[in-house]
Amino acid sequence: DNLIVIVPQKNPAQRDPGQRDLHEVGVRAEIVQVVKHSPGRFTCVMRFLERVRIDALVATEPFLIASVSPLVASTSAPPSDALVATTTKVRDYLVAVVTDAQAKDAKDKDSNAPKGELTRAQVQAITDPDKLVDAAAPYLELDREDLTALLVETDTMKRLERIIPSLERQATVLRLKADIGAELEGESSRTHRERVLRDRMRQIQEELGEQDDNAEVDDLRKKIEDSKMSDEVRAVAKKQLSRMGQMASSSPEYNISRTYIENLLEIPWNINSEDRLDVSAARAILEAEHSGLDKVKRRILEFLAVRKLAPNKHGPILLLVGPPGVGKTSLGKSIASSLGRKYVRISLGGVRDEAEIRGHRRTYIGAMPGKIIQSMKKAGTGNPVFLLDEVDKMSTDFRGDPSAALLEVLDPEQNHSFGDHYLDLDYDLSKVMFICTANTLHGIPAPLQDRLEIIRIAGYTDLEKLSIAHKYLTPRQKELNGLDEVDLTITRKAMAELVHRYTRESGVRNLEREIASVCRKVAKDVLKSGKRDEKIIVDRRRIHKLLGPPRFRYGMTEEKDEIGLVTGLAWTEVGGELLQTEVTVMPGKGKLILTGKLGEVMQESAQAALSYVRSRAEKFGIDKNFADKFDIHVHVAEGAVPKDGPSAGVTMATAMISALAKVPVRKDVAMTGEITLRGRVLPIGGLKEKALAAHRGGIKIVLIPKENEKDIREIPLKIRRELRIIPVDHVDEVLRVALVLEDPDGFFRQGPAAISPATPAAPAAPA
Ligand code: ADP
Repeated sequence: DNLIVIVPQKNPAQRDPGQRDLHEVGVRAEIVQVVKHSPGRFTCVMRFLERVRIDALVATEPFLIASVSPLVASTSAPPSDALVATTTKVRDYLVAVVTDAQAKDAKDKDSNAPKGELTRAQVQAITDPDKLVDAAAPYLELDREDLTALLVETDTMKRLERIIPSLERQATVLRLKADIGAELEGESSRTHRERVLRDRMRQIQEELGEQDDNAEVDDLRKKIEDSKMSDEVRAVAKKQLSRMGQMASSSPEYNISRTYIENLLEIPWNINSEDRLDVSAARAILEAEHSGLDKVKRRILEFLAVRKLAPNKHGPILLLVGPPGVGKTSLGKSIASSLGRKYVRISLGGVRDEAEIRGHRRTYIGAMPGKIIQSMKKAGTGNPVFLLDEVDKMSTDFRGDPSAALLEVLDPEQNHSFGDHYLDLDYDLSKVMFICTANTLHGIPAPLQDRLEIIRIAGYTDLEKLSIAHKYLTPRQKELNGLDEVDLTITRKAMAELVHRYTRESGVRNLEREIASVCRKVAKDVLKSGKRDEKIIVDRRRIHKLLGPPRFRYGMTEEKDEIGLVTGLAWTEVGGELLQTEVTVMPGKGKLILTGKLGEVMQESAQAALSYVRSRAEKFGIDKNFADKFDIHVHVAEGAVPKDGPSAGVTMATAMISALAKVPVRKDVAMTGEITLRGRVLPIGGLKEKALAAHRGGIKIVLIPKENEKDIREIPLKIRRELRIIPVDHVDEVLRVALVLEDPDGFFRQGPAAISPATPAAPAAPA
């Protein structure tokens, strides 16, 4: 009766299989047509009837004969909602696929491609989900194994789910095709057609996941094998790789995994550069690139020597503190080259988020490793010199405390297993040589300071600046501006002019900028005139011509001795500075007006100064009830720059007394010191920077607190020779020097006893 049972073999390669080699489930089919080609070769067309289970093999000769029974669905219960929904979904997809197959058949009638058997209406009429799966089977792009699995599966729901991905993919491709078709409609330009078709091809390939991802995965696998990562890291990388292999290359997860693996590959695992431990060569490099800075250089050479003796010891972490432009950053680079290590740098200025240092977890969109790991990637070795710039400019907010992360980075006990959120693996930072820089110690949390060896760089004297400019800055700028062939000389006087009147700074950053500007302008002139081998001398006059009129006045800030105007000395982030403090007295009711953006501490110090002046008014011949009649206004220039700290107390007291007693203050005197209510002068910080600023400003006499006397030796000798530095204990001593008095002894009416700091001051007189 032309009936046949077709059963898949468990192992397709086996010849003459017995019952054990066959699956239990097959299909019963009817032989519709047999076409003979040659003896023993024919084509057979069969019609599928139903799926059957093989109950028993009845005979093996002349061919296998079996008794079979129809396969009944294992669920006899009424269909669940989920089953109904899935069935509908499969039916919809199948309708789309069938419709397309028919359209194709209609188009190429003569082709040998298998004809779509079913029509749209037929598919829509199928209600039994199992039948639907059977009907869909010929349209599925499944391999033999999957088809067999689909055949032998008895659970209806599982069968439906098995075929959904394939149908879904085909349906998407069809939809894309339709979209592109619509786009092509009416367009006749050939290139446009071509472009759209290429797009379509690419999209279809992507949809089918047929791009070269296998090549990509293989490539990554090879790189992972070749890299020097530890077994642990390699295992993580491989796990990601196998995930990648299972995903379509267009899916976001695929890209996340790929980026992650690429990051792992770029990070230097167990790659270290060889240290050059030759102390004299290192010294030569350091000297060649920076003048002065002896303390730092010595420290580096010591580090090298220790390193040579004890290769595995943790070195110190240096913190270079000083105003901008004194060479902290560029020194870091020289240190790297003197050690023969790679150099990387990150700026921590404005970093508020811990994640900037440690990275974001991979679950965030666009997550990346933090700055530390990124820099290690850039370095390419595990032991670079790593400069952490501006550690004092980090701030803390709700996004976590970046300094906590930094603590971990800088702690030799912890940093062999630094945790980056993105990597989710420990990274060993213990071989890195960290160097930090900061302008002040203010913003640096104490625990962080504890870990660092602080080296202060105070700023340069004019002489040092001139020498740096001649030896380093000018040659470098000449080269950068294409003037190395040109015989260009900037005269000493011209350079002094640049230092004095075109810049006012502790470092040499602006000076370098001005020199660059001179070089650029000279280069332009050379190009214009075409005379390359002419000798060019830039003197003072030429500087004025090239750069315009000087920007600063060199020397005294004031032209004559003024009443109520005193020069104080401040120490700010950018080094030492002169601080003009003005006081005026006007009719009023004893109000103290403070302007010039003074911080809290500075305001209190003004109060203290005022109280001192009131308590001693009579002594200086000032009306003791002045506070009932006058308002006092204290203004510290430059008004827009915030200032703080107690060290202007003495300055403000002097200015008040000068204004009230109407005695001028010497213009060539500057002072610094905190004041107590009894007029004692307390010590201050940053003496060296302040002395440099006073010298820069053309000051002749500097009054400093007695307790700072020990710091005088830090001031460069040349400056000590040119400045008279007078340590004082009490404001009265300050007044004696600073005020222009015709009769000093007469001024202090209560006699010398009051001046002596040893005598306790009289209780404040009621105002
Ligand atoms: P900082 O990091 O302290 O703000 P930089 O390192 O940026 O300063 O220095 C500014 C410029 O000045 C650099 O070009 C640097 O080479 C140069 N410079 C600073 N100090 C010296 C020095 N002692 N010798 C030679 N060049 C210097």
